[in-house]
Formats: sequence, C-alpha cells, structure tokens
Amino acid sequence: MQNTPILPPANLGILGGGQLGRMFAVAAKTMGYKVTVLDPDPNAPAAEFADRHLCAPFDDEAALNELAQCAAVTTEFENVNADAMRFLAQHTRVSPSGDCVAIAQNRIQEKAWIRKAGLQTAPYQAVCGADDITEASAAFLPGILKTATLGYDGKGQIRVKTLDELKAAFAEHGGVDCVLEKMVDLRGEISVIVCRLDNQHIQTFDPAENIHENGILAYSIVPARLSADVQQQARQMAQRLADELDYVGVLAVEMFVVGDTHELVVNEIAPRPHNSGHHTIDACAADQFQQQVRIMCGLAPADTRLLSACCMANILGDVWGGDGSEPDWQPLQNHSRSHLHLYGKKSARKGRKMGHFVTLAADSNTALTEAQQLHQSLSVQP
Ligand code: ATP
Ligand code: MG
Repeated sequence: MQNTPILPPANLGILGGGQLGRMFAVAAKTMGYKVTVLDPDPNAPAAEFADRHLCAPFDDEAALNELAQCAAVTTEFENVNADAMRFLAQHTRVSPSGDCVAIAQNRIQEKAWIRKAGLQTAPYQAVCGADDITEASAAFLPGILKTATLGYDGKGQIRVKTLDELKAAFAEHGGVDCVLEKMVDLRGEISVIVCRLDNQHIQTFDPAENIHENGILAYSIVPARLSADVQQQARQMAQRLADELDYVGVLAVEMFVVGDTHELVVNEIAPRPHNSGHHTIDACAADQFQQQVRIMCGLAPADTRLLSACCMANILGDVWGGDGSEPDWQPLQNHSRSHLHLYGKKSARKGRKMGHFVTLAADSNTALTEAQQLHQSLSVQP
C-alpha cells in the first residue's frame, strides 16, 4: 500500500489548521486533492481553503476517526500529540511518523539524537532537577536555559551568566526539564528544508539566512550570504539528519553559523514546512507545501531550484493600528516584484504572525534592502 501513489481527487488530512496548514491546503487544492483539517479553532486559517473542517480538540477520538478516513494524513506543527499520529498510522498513511515528531518535541532527546547522528550541537547539559546544577555546569556559562518542551519564538528561554542565575532561572521555569546551552559565537543563522520520500528520492532547498527580531523570525534571505562550501555542507548535514531518521516528509533543520571559520552546528529540527521556507512559494520551482503534498501521497519530491534571489519578511500583528486598523498595503501592492500572503486571522496581536511577503531581486542584499523598506512602509498610515 505504501508504494501506490495517491492521486487526485483523493482526500488529504492535516492535523492543525494554522498558516502552515492553510498554505498546505492551497497547494493540495490547486493540485486537485480534497482537504480535511482538524483544528479546535473555529477561525483556523486553513479552514477557509479546506473542504472539511473538523472543529475539535486534537485528541478528540471521533474527529481522529474521521481524519483516519483520509487517504493520507500529515501535520503542520510539532506539538501535536505523537500518540494521535500513531493512532492515525494504524488506519491510514501518516507522514512524518509519530516517532520523528516526538523527537522534535523534546530538546533533550533532540540534541542527543543530533549528536548520535554525528553532527554538532552547541555544548549543552540537561537540567532535569536542581541537583543537576553543579560546579561542572559552569562549563556551559554564559548560556541559555531553555525548557525541554513547548518552546517557540524564543519563549521559555532565560539567559544566564552565573551558577546563581542558573539556579534562579531553573526555579523560574518551575523546575521543569530544561537544557542549559552554552552561548556560541553566533555569526548567522540558517535553515535547510529537506524533502524526503525515501533514500532514493530526496531534495533540499537552498539554505535560507534568517534574521530574528525580538526572538521571532523577521527576514529570510536566499541565497544565504555564505560561501558555496558552507552552503553545500549545510545541505549535506540536513540530508544526513533526514536519512538517519528515515524521514518521510518535509523537515526543517535550523543551524547556527559559528565563529570566524563559519562552523555549522545544528540548533533544532522541525518536522514540517517552516517559516523560513515560505519564499519557496514565489521563488522556487516547487514550493515546500507542494512537496509536503507530494511526499504524503508517495510521490517523489519535485525540483527545489531557486528561480530568483529573494527575501521573505514576516508581517506581525505589530503593524496593525491600536484600533485594529489595517496596515498601509499600498506600497507593497504597488511593488511589482513583491508577493503578499495574508493568513486570514481575525484579530491582530503583537508578535502574532499575520502574514508575510516575498520580494524578488537580482541579489540577496538588494532583496533584503527592498523588503526592509517595504516592511517599514506598512506601519506608516497614508
Ligand atoms: P524558534 O521558534 O524561533 O525556532 P525557539 O524558541 O525554538 O525559537 P531557539 O531556536 O532555540 O528558540 O533560540 C532562539 C534564538 O536564540 C536563536 O534563533 C538564536 O538567535 C538565539 N540562541 C539560541 N541558542 C543560542 C546559543 N546556544 N548561542 C547563541 N545564541 C543562541
Ligand atoms: Mg528555533
């Protein structure tokens, strides 16, 4: 059964109906499939494009049984219940596997596993109790104490310089399992998205160079402004992780570029399409959501080639007026090489990802400069 390709108009299911689920649904519908979304939010961004919205909690048995009727099921977020994925896998094709999703849900397991695969991480120590904080922990200072589970967009992280600060931070996290990570000499951050069906059919997108603001991704620039050697190495590392996991689906691998020598260390993995891959919709031969559809259907990933240098800029709720008034879309919509994507979210909040745009240009620096200018123009009312 695993080898028979699933063709349109089969029904594809997705756990989670946020913006990633929405872009998945657009891709799947465009390719002629039907889409069923499971998400408890009645206003889930993906619902607008889905044939069917199962509006229920992610562990709702009846809803999971409905979803299990789909020809294949995937997910758009890593904090999905891995058991729900395993349940679905008894009834239908599920990718990525619940086991792969589970690894990415816990930073301690994830880092141990990355090391086991023979790749570097920042030096770290698991802190699962106050007793784990000893003189030896000083080797990881100055560092960042990150909760082992449920962290995203820099949440659940406290920077610490001394053992006393470390103890206080552990208490502040409420004594939950944490990872103490040594601060590395960060020269940049990149991510590589891998699309893998099996060891014969695997493609990687060009690495994206990521710029964060206030712990949230602000811009992704492609091609990354790094040597061809380092970029090639990044693609190989990401592919190696996917191979080690025998991964089926779209996998994002975030890496730090460290020191003068631009050594690459793996920060974390996300078992799904990624915010830093949104440019692929407007700038690549096939995009990350089409790849997700293809692979869950047992089809080989398509060409990942970059067709133009570009910069993706996130649009957060911050650029909406305090009274809920819309940003000034005019300059962006007047720009002939920019593509606006809005997620249809009902209310704008600070830090909430409302949409993004992609600006194409002759080279990465120009794309970044133009995207920054266009981003500025959003919050200037006409
Ligand atoms: P996201 O959801 O954006 O991936 P997150 O909550 O998973 O964020 P991390 O990716 O672990 O958090 O870290 C957030 C940011 O903090 C990184 O992008 C990086 O800029 C910085 N950072 C994290 N760990 C280190 C480190 N060991 N050394 C230096 N900087 C770090
Ligand atoms: Mg991260």
